[in-house]
Amino acid sequence: MAFDTLSDRLQGAFKNLGRKGKVSPEDVEAALKEVRLALLEADVNYLVVKAFMKTIREKALGEDVLKSLTPAQQVIKVVSDELQHLMGDENVPLNRAAMGATTIMMVGLQGSGKTTLTGKLALYIQKKLDGKPFMIAADVYRPAAIDQLHTLGNQLGVTVYSEGTDKNPVDIVRNGVAKAKSEGYTHILIDTAGRLHIDETLMDELIAIKEVAQPNEIMLVADSMTGQDAVNVAIHFHDDLKVTGATLTKLDGDARGGAALSIRQMTGVPIKFVGTGEKLDGLEVFYPERMAQRILGMGDVMSLIEKAQEEISEDDAEAAARRMFSNDFNLEDYLNQMQQMKKMGSMESILGMLPGMNKQMLAKANVDPKQLTRTEAIIQSMTKKERQKPVIINNSRKHRIANGSGTSIQEVNRLLKQFEQSKKAMKQMGQMMKSGKNPLAGL
Ligand code: GDP
Repeated sequence: MAFDTLSDRLQGAFKNLGRKGKVSPEDVEAALKEVRLALLEADVNYLVVKAFMKTIREKALGEDVLKSLTPAQQVIKVVSDELQHLMGDENVPLNRAAMGATTIMMVGLQGSGKTTLTGKLALYIQKKLDGKPFMIAADVYRPAAIDQLHTLGNQLGVTVYSEGTDKNPVDIVRNGVAKAKSEGYTHILIDTAGRLHIDETLMDELIAIKEVAQPNEIMLVADSMTGQDAVNVAIHFHDDLKVTGATLTKLDGDARGGAALSIRQMTGVPIKFVGTGEKLDGLEVFYPERMAQRILGMGDVMSLIEKAQEEISEDDAEAAARRMFSNDFNLEDYLNQMQQMKKMGSMESILGMLPGMNKQMLAKANVDPKQLTRTEAIIQSMTKKERQKPVIINNSRKHRIANGSGTSIQEVNRLLKQFEQSKKAMKQMGQMMKSGKNPLAGL
């Protein structure tokens, strides 16, 4: 998914900041440096990065942030607010005709996703706006485009107007629009031709289509995978056509996110939708605030920092780790750990605080909080002796423990087995650490 790398990097920058009790201007500078690198790596336009950094530096280094009780959170808030601002603050909805049918014209390079978006918007109009869309196939240069639109039309039960590939697209649009208006459709969607690169003949044709269709919305379709190129294309189309909205397609792909973060700033054109899949339902309304929070992994990073500050001092963490990896780790420690975890939230969040952990590793760790509660109940039903020396737990003891904890013998057995396994694994980790290897590398 787009933004994954950017999110990881930004979270990394803030995680370090969150570990500090007090935050100095140097700490903030160090985090901001990471933010800057992360944005540049995500292919955000350097002018945008420059302006962005200037604003957040001023705000993040302000007295009210550094002297606050939660400086790390305040810095993140500053970054999140500015990311949101960068992408346009508020969602801008589709334009509408004051009277009669709303006409939307797709423009963009070949392969950017215009035909697909035409279908997606038709579905959106049917479902969300309760409208009756009509599609016009005006891409006569890519023969498959017309068939593609007809296929989508059949799927959706939406009328498609086409005149084949040997007619002038401007005439096709004129005829199509007249037909749609006379037949009472609410939305007219025009799929226009693209080229591999911007060329003047194409622009002239689009300008002529704009003339005859008088669209309420000229929707620039930009492939987010192309990063900065998408921004350059947007600038060019906007210069010639006065684009009114943009849709960033293929955000589900491995895009670095730079286009989403630069396009609004560089063109002033609002991003209205994002494409998140090849299928017709792969369309999302674009909300800058949600996107900023998603990029930052906001919920996660905020609570992580709070937890890191509130719950674990570095000394405690180290002592716990030392015991965890030692030979005489017992069920008492296991229970202590568990209670600590419950206080702090999910296992993932704790694992996430360990340096070197990433999302894939966390997904593998896959911890279920409900299961933790049951495990805790089982251990609490054991005597002190049993916790310290689990080998003494025979069948009748298991029976008593299962009854006491409201679980079953099978669950008690499972826990004992798990405990043995994790003890073994931790012992190995401890040995690896002693020999200087990263014990988390193989998780
Ligand atoms: P056009 O030449 O601009 O009309 O582009 P198309 O609509 O034919 O799309 C080009 C390719 O991109 C097709 O294979 C689409 O399935 C794919 N595509 C379009 N939008 C998205 C999207 O949001 N996500 C993904 N993954 N693929 C998309």
